[in-house]
Amino acid sequence: MNILFCSSEVVPFAKTGGLADVAGALPIALEHEGHQVRVALPKYKMVKEESDSAVIGEAIKVHLIRNDELYMRDGIYGDEKGDYPDNLERFMFYCRQTLELMKSEGFRPDIIHCNDWQTGLIPVYLKTVYKDDPFFKDTRTLFTIHNLAYTGSFEESEFDKTGLDRALFSIDGLEYYGKFSLLKGGLVFSDAITAVSPTYAKEIQTKEYGCGMEGILKARSADLYGVLNGIDYELWDPAKDALIYEKYSPSSIEGKCTNKERLLADMGMKTAAGAPLIGTVGRLAYQKGYDILAEVMDELCGMDIGFILLGTGEERYHKIFEEIASRGNSKISINLCFDAALAQKIYAASDMFLMPSRYEPCGLGQLISFKYGAVPVARKTGGLADTVFEYDAKTGDGNGFLFEKAEPQELLGAIKRAVEAHKDGPGWQRLITKIAGYDFSWDKSAQEYTRIYEKLKAKK
Ligand code: ADP
Repeated sequence: MNILFCSSEVVPFAKTGGLADVAGALPIALEHEGHQVRVALPKYKMVKEESDSAVIGEAIKVHLIRNDELYMRDGIYGDEKGDYPDNLERFMFYCRQTLELMKSEGFRPDIIHCNDWQTGLIPVYLKTVYKDDPFFKDTRTLFTIHNLAYTGSFEESEFDKTGLDRALFSIDGLEYYGKFSLLKGGLVFSDAITAVSPTYAKEIQTKEYGCGMEGILKARSADLYGVLNGIDYELWDPAKDALIYEKYSPSSIEGKCTNKERLLADMGMKTAAGAPLIGTVGRLAYQKGYDILAEVMDELCGMDIGFILLGTGEERYHKIFEEIASRGNSKISINLCFDAALAQKIYAASDMFLMPSRYEPCGLGQLISFKYGAVPVARKTGGLADTVFEYDAKTGDGNGFLFEKAEPQELLGAIKRAVEAHKDGPGWQRLITKIAGYDFSWDKSAQEYTRIYEKLKAKK
């Protein structure tokens, strides 16, 4: 099939989070399935290619949609002042231009696979502006939700810029609590919808997780699927990782010790002999629950552990962790920046990996941490609930430590259970050897997407 994959972030060109990882890897796995795949991405300043296209995988053409006025800026979505005020124009242009480009290239997609709000206008334009265009007669759209909380909402006064019929500013169209949402456009007008894990696909149909979209998602539940993300083991594999201190694999898992010792030394940390190192890497945003973690930092500091955090994001969380860092405890290391190399070192060095997320559509952190033999301590939600299961020291079943409520004492309880389990050296070795051998590669997800594409293609 001809597949056009549309995403506002694609590794290795532009990344702020997990969406970029998905968009850099899934097209390649789809190519392995035998599809003809193309990718479209805005040509931001950070995209270093000279020409307006690049190649990934064997022969996947990545179209770099060019508009210097809209994209030649330092950020992807905004700067320190917040979102760029012309994001509607920026992503509207991207959607329109991508469709036009397919026509001029003569690439007739069977499926346009859209991702998150930035691509939401593609299904809308196909069902309105291009409704009678023979070029797209057999094109079907799949819209994947990576994070429902980013709705891409704009003021009513901007609606006419979209060129859409005013009648679409309605409850059955793009209207969303007095504004209009590009994400909602994608949900209403696409031929099918997926969320990035089976549990998240169910959660988003409830008021608690639905961000006000639960009504439309419930109405479309027959076309809504959950497909778990994979990870790219070319990038995330301690046996190949050139950025960590010593390479290792399940059969040489003791290589983690060197990584831990060297990282502790480099970060100037001092911990008791044999104490577990707890690591975490993530965006400092409400979603990720780092404020819940901040509340148990005092208790953590009282335990025989080491703790290392790498994260960047909202100012208020920076302040909280700056204050914690200023206490000068040598058991902890707080790093408030984006640093891909340090992230890899943390995965390799950590015994446990924390993800106290309030919600987590899929989560790549726990999949990476499995591969690096760091045991996840996570909240039971979304993709975490689909991949992390409570460890049972007696039977050896399970692969992590879970807590249910987004509350400090629950998180602390799970950390304590992990620290207790860590004391059983041989049991812990078996556990980390097991998780490091898991296979969450993209092949399985690509096969599931292919089944959905085929269903869509058969649909008239
Ligand atoms: P999300 O997409 O919601 O941010 P995921 O767990 O799906 O969360 O993916 C996060 C990805 O971004 C992982 O690859 C993680 O290692 C990386 N990451 C997040 N914050 C940082 C940071 N400060 N420095 C380096 N890598 C980071």
